Amino acid sequence: MHTHEFAPDHSSEDNSITDILIVGGGTAGWMAAAALSHVYKSKPCRIRLVESDHIGTVGVGEATIPVIQKFNQMLGIDEHDFIKHTQGTFKLGIEFVNWGSLDNAYIHPFGSYGMSMGYLSFYHYWLRLADAGHTQNPGEFSIAIQAALRGRFMPPANIPNSPLSQIAYAYHFDASLYAKYLRHFAQERGVVRIEGEIAQVLLRSTDGFVDKLLLKNGESLSAQLFIDCTGFRGLLIEQAMNTGYDDWSHWLPCDTAVAVPSHNISEPRPYTRSTAHSAGWQWSIPLQHRTGNGHVFCSKYMDDEQAKKILLENIDGDALAEPRFIRFKTGMRRKFWNKNCVAIGLASGFLEPLESTSIHLIQSSISKLIALLPTADFEQSTIDKYNELLTAEFMFVRDFIILHYKVSQRTDSDFWNYCRHMPVPESLQKKLDLYESSGRLFRDNNELFDEVSWFAVMQGQGLRPRHYHPLANQVEANEFHRIMQEIKAVVQRAADAMPTHAEYIAAHCAAS
Ligand code: FAD
Repeated sequence: MHTHEFAPDHSSEDNSITDILIVGGGTAGWMAAAALSHVYKSKPCRIRLVESDHIGTVGVGEATIPVIQKFNQMLGIDEHDFIKHTQGTFKLGIEFVNWGSLDNAYIHPFGSYGMSMGYLSFYHYWLRLADAGHTQNPGEFSIAIQAALRGRFMPPANIPNSPLSQIAYAYHFDASLYAKYLRHFAQERGVVRIEGEIAQVLLRSTDGFVDKLLLKNGESLSAQLFIDCTGFRGLLIEQAMNTGYDDWSHWLPCDTAVAVPSHNISEPRPYTRSTAHSAGWQWSIPLQHRTGNGHVFCSKYMDDEQAKKILLENIDGDALAEPRFIRFKTGMRRKFWNKNCVAIGLASGFLEPLESTSIHLIQSSISKLIALLPTADFEQSTIDKYNELLTAEFMFVRDFIILHYKVSQRTDSDFWNYCRHMPVPESLQKKLDLYESSGRLFRDNNELFDEVSWFAVMQGQGLRPRHYHPLANQVEANEFHRIMQEIKAVVQRAADAMPTHAEYIAAHCAAS
């Protein structure tokens, strides 16, 4: 255990930061506290976190994407211990129901389709198959989708050339329990938690840097680096520093969520479900002890009562609480890092949880902050690089989420008609044009979602390219069809051999 309870030496020889204050103790605050306390192992730095029990946290946020494994691994967290403590389950992808059209469903899987067939991604070969008139769904070639549909799960096995070696997965968990778990981790490593409500943020008159925070109880807190994790309020980054916000609601018009937990009436599914409704969509996230549900909708096309009614009509078990409304504006902060303040989590921006990306964006912000830790001089070039990287990341995720709305074929409501006809960002339009004309997809600048994800949504919602990659024709036709059927059979057999999700949890990580 390392303790950092010391008076920080601001005149440190190498001018490094020795005093950090994290403001807010939701998932963002405690993820930042855990990661920073872990990386400041040998060189002491005072890390404190202030949060208000009275204000509380946003209280939602339960589905993740596979990169979160890296965050937990970096901290040395044991996977099964973490699942037990967070009522967690495993996630192989997201099922999208009624998105492409009514009565249409597809799964966006983690990991790849099929198996390696040479130079090209597998989806090019599937496009060749479809072009030849075959009606097989690409999901028949995906180990994640086949396992998900069978309610099966296991982590990847070290079996060369087997689909079982390609399993990629994430988690569903109770985010407040995850924050609690990380709080314990961070406090063990010396992070000091301060309970109190911030009444005022004081800026330095000379340069506008954050100087100190005044708490309601009269205490004042100063630091060198402030990490604003105060959620939608953006207490430092916006309310005090007026950093500005890019509003994306013309592309993503949903602005409200109504959320309610419900009883589990069956074994938890190893995937998230997203069901489109007439002015938005509903999530269903199975945890060990309950299911998280929420209806994300656009208040311009639907009122609160209607939205709540639709939510309650579409949950499986009985509701465990009164539904709770959460308002938001989709977009991002004009600067994520402004002077000596870095905003992380909901304080930095918001994209609806359609692809479970918010916790990932927290993780990504933290790892970029660690990579670009400033000196006490706060070099502008460091700040600029951070903002450039985060801006690109938010915009890539934004485009991928807009895609789901734009390529829907639904014509049954004003909301869907708006979405189908709205102009989209140029970066997304270029991707759509390229795919439609040639079946090509590229992962730009290491963006979060790769070709497999883009293909899953485009194909799943009925977008068909005019051509596919010519090199997919290199294999002679009979041989090609034989190989494709063989891959399909291997994938199906592998999925059949996996334990059920419930069996896996019971054997390794059931919550007590
Ligand atoms: P919060 O949880 O709001 O925490 C803010 C903290 O700041 C609290 O501790 C509060 O006490 C403190 N604070 C605020 N003001 C003061 C003050 N004046 N004084 C002292 N303390 C103060 N993400 C996913 O990855 N997957 C999902 O499935 C998902 N679903 C979501 C569904 C919805 C409807 C919404 C709105 C978000 C969802 N998210 C999801 C996002 C996820 O919930 C957040 O990214 C995550 O919880 C982080 O929140 P936060 O820590 O930034 O803010």
